Amino acid sequence: MSITFDVLTAGAGYAGAVAARALAEQGKRVLVLERRPHIGGNAYDRLDDAGVLIHQYGPHIFHTNNREVFDWLSRFTQWRDYQHRVVANIPDEKGGRMTYPVPFNLTSLETAFGPEEGRRLGDKLIAAYGAEKKVTILELRQNPDPEIAALADYVYEHVFVHYTMKQWGQKPEDIDPNTTARVPVFLSRDDRYFQDAYQGMPLEGYTPMFEKMLDHPNITVELGADALDRLDLSGDRIKVDGEPFDGPVIYTGQADELFGFKYGPLPYRTLDFRFETLSRDDFQNGYGTVNYTVDQDYTRITEFKHLTGQKVPGKTTIVKEYSKAYAGIFGEIPYYAIINPENNALYGQYKALAEGFDNLHLLGRLAEYKYYNMDAIAARALELAKELV
Ligand code: FAD
Ligand code: UDP
Repeated sequence: MSITFDVLTAGAGYAGAVAARALAEQGKRVLVLERRPHIGGNAYDRLDDAGVLIHQYGPHIFHTNNREVFDWLSRFTQWRDYQHRVVANIPDEKGGRMTYPVPFNLTSLETAFGPEEGRRLGDKLIAAYGAEKKVTILELRQNPDPEIAALADYVYEHVFVHYTMKQWGQKPEDIDPNTTARVPVFLSRDDRYFQDAYQGMPLEGYTPMFEKMLDHPNITVELGADALDRLDLSGDRIKVDGEPFDGPVIYTGQADELFGFKYGPLPYRTLDFRFETLSRDDFQNGYGTVNYTVDQDYTRITEFKHLTGQKVPGKTTIVKEYSKAYAGIFGEIPYYAIINPENNALYGQYKALAEGFDNLHLLGRLAEYKYYNMDAIAARALELAKELV
């Protein structure tokens, strides 16, 4: 079999699909190998048995300040205007439960401490940091003022420490500070989860967006095709299907797996998603996601109808997320890199191996061992495609 493509892409998620399309439009013939039976990577969505559009690998909300990425993706989808709002659901002092916005904001403060005391504390925070400012929990905990320190302890205890223990098996102060910084304390009445200029859900879903993206005469997609079965990195030159291949190879899977775990496995967190379809119109009062920040074994519950706006009378599908250490056993998916100096150093060893091949490019959340959002990896993929032509 002779090689009939110019570029090989392993993976048909954001990284692989965006790069493939951008290169195909520059006249490159791109072969996309995807080991799953579908495209879209972790952003894949589909109808479940009840006819509800679900995100099989957890809730995905598109948000960005990057106009170029938004415009580029908008060629393949229209958008449903959706502003993600999340509440924390926690036990209250009377044996019931209460909810307030996350990121913890001025409204959360008044719900937690009562209107008067909440407002006073809010004013004090604004005096210290400024109105509409975002302050990370780790920063807030450094504040020497005893009242602000006590408030920081409250937020740490009720929003961060238990959720973070569930999600990472570690305390907020022991994980990469950029992770909790994603959800800062927000000195605002804006109760949206993200403040980005462009946010929304692909009108028909993510999978149709990827279908359009990959629908190009220069792109061939093979599903159920593991690139590791086709790539040979044992020599000086990359071989594909046994033949030397000097065109770009864009690898979007795990870097450790690509090199046979030569230096040992990179640590990840994985998730168990438990889906339930309920015979009711609504489960969580219109909220797409509710975070269980104090109790329960799961971190959060997502109710898909509220993200997608889909109308399905009398039925709703929810998913609970349970996080655990990734053990690399069959069927497990490594969802989150565990970013810390030791793991980054291990990753660096794999990256160095990859750099031994001029035409091998590691791209994506797995391949780069990074906490990329969808927009950020799309931006990286467009950048790489530009560099390659
Ligand atoms: P992936 O989507 O993981 O795609 C990699 C693809 O490569 C996969 O399809 C995999 O099967 C394939 N592959 C791997 N190895 C091989 C191989 N050897 N051969 C062939 N194929 C291979 N981002 C947001 O912006 N907003 C959100 O709301 C959001 N929510 C998220 C929720 C969860 C639970 C998770 C885990 C992530 C979320 N993200 C969100 C992040 C988003 O999923 C990623 O930014 C995006 O999926 C990264 O794309 P990728 O192509 O790098 O990786
Ligand atoms: N986090 C938290 N409580 C919350 C929300 C987030 O402690 O209610 C922390 C937790 O460590 C989490 C991180 O902030 O892993 C980032 O949250 P985000 O919602 O961005 O996570 P993702 O959607 O990527 O899983």
